[in-house]
Amino acid sequence: MDLVQLAIEHGFSHAAEFDPKVLEARQDVRAMCEEDKCHAYAKNWTCPPFCGTVEECQEKMHSYNKAVLLQTEGKLTKVIDWLGYIEFGKKHNDLLYSFADTARELYPGCLILGGGGCRMCTKCAHPKPCRHPDKAISSMEGYGLLVSRVCEAAGLPYYYGEKTITYCACILYNEQETE
Ligand code: SF4
Repeated sequence: MDLVQLAIEHGFSHAAEFDPKVLEARQDVRAMCEEDKCHAYAKNWTCPPFCGTVEECQEKMHSYNKAVLLQTEGKLTKVIDWLGYIEFGKKHNDLLYSFADTARELYPGCLILGGGGCRMCTKCAHPKPCRHPDKAISSMEGYGLLVSRVCEAAGLPYYYGEKTITYCACILYNEQETE
């Protein structure tokens, strides 16, 4: 099944395959989560420390043999465009959470990583149990990934030029699971 083609048909701006074995869960990226600038550290079930140690995240990502990077590129009306950031961030999440259903159907057990922690619920249920453990989505940053490096591995730009914003996600899966 060509996930890249499906992703483009679904509405993502760009998609490309890459080898998940090149992914590196980095302690310095995890350290940024620990600074808690996004106020999700230890408050969202898919964020650190709940998503596992850096070593556990690395091991999990390397247990897959295929990966696809998904990007939503937005054209902004000015260089700093807060409304544009919100609009395209929402568009990306809407695309991701609907495409996640397709990916999970095709590749049960796949790992889907978005940006900024799970957005399934308006407010995460933490510390109460997760409301949708089968649909929750962790973030690339939470897994210690430098998003620009992942784009590089997939051969896609991280930055598409002035007055653009790009949101990224990825899906890791095992091809043989469908055979
Ligand atoms: S599904 Fe809801 S409760 Fe579960 S991690 Fe996501 S936001 Fe939190």
